[in-house]
Amino acid sequence: MAAIAFIGLGNMGGPMAANLVGAGHAVAGFDLDPAALDAARAAGVTAAASAAEAAAGADVVVTMLPAGQHLVAAYEGGLVAAAPEGALFIDSSTVDVASSRRAHAFAAARGMSTVDAPVSGGVAGAVAGTLTFMAGGAPEAVERARPILAALGRRVVACGGPGAGQAAKLCNNMVLGIAMVGISEAFVLAEKLGLDHQALFDVVSTSSGQCWALTNHCPVPGPVPASAANRAYAPGFAAALMLKDLTLARDAADSVGADTALGRHARDIFAAFAEGGGAALDYSAVIEAVRRG
Ligand code: NAD
Repeated sequence: MAAIAFIGLGNMGGPMAANLVGAGHAVAGFDLDPAALDAARAAGVTAAASAAEAAAGADVVVTMLPAGQHLVAAYEGGLVAAAPEGALFIDSSTVDVASSRRAHAFAAARGMSTVDAPVSGGVAGAVAGTLTFMAGGAPEAVERARPILAALGRRVVACGGPGAGQAAKLCNNMVLGIAMVGISEAFVLAEKLGLDHQALFDVVSTSSGQCWALTNHCPVPGPVPASAANRAYAPGFAAALMLKDLTLARDAADSVGADTALGRHARDIFAAFAEGGGAALDYSAVIEAVRRG
């Protein structure tokens, strides 16, 4: 069992840290928010007074922070310096590829092993320990991370070198965002053509238009009882987070000169929806923006 520092104990990090405790690891945690720290303490995490205090003596340092600037600030602001040389750093936040690579390089230059391991599966997956990790880093670092991540998820996909996990995550979520807009357009077109929601679902879910977003997160109430559409679009996966991921995808595409016209268009649709009051709703509520036109 390992001594693990866990930095960022929010909606995702809190339950992940609790699952590491449940697997028998000694977890020292830190969060800027005292309420998040208290909740983690109640789950068996040892509350530290700072990120550096949590990292002192750690074999493994896991971060689950909002965005790239928080990651870089934490790494360069004392987290890496506080950890023993040779510690394994796992960043599971969703961040831009450039910040991820900067964090890798900073920690590696100080003798650390580093993995970027963003997740798919959301808060429900974090609680249930069923996340999928997309891992980037040296093969030996990824192999070293596997037994730790096994307590948190079902799959670890090795994607390549530093930042490759983040690249995979933003490509995947760009597909998801485009798919949800496409499905929403189909339902809105069906409504205007007088076609019943259930009939459209029954056809598309068993035909060539079938996709995960439709069969899991159907944007209209009825066909998929567990979808957010049945509970007034309470998230789920908030539209604000989808906007974050589509913006990361757009910026990454710009940085390498990739033409991702549909990803960019989906991002703009989610931006208008979020700015119009939809940010806290489930991302499938974007159908309301499509309906408004
Ligand atoms: P969150 O806002 O609930 O949690 C982030 C936590 O980090 C907060 O508690 C905040 O206080 C803390 N924090 C910020 N800066 C800090 C610092 N310097 N030191 C210590 N703590 C600090 O966000 P979340 O939903 O848990 O998401 C975390 C990451 O996971 C994000 O990058 C997000 O994009 C990604 N993610 C979220 C989901 C989801 O469904 N919520 C799914 C997949 C990936």
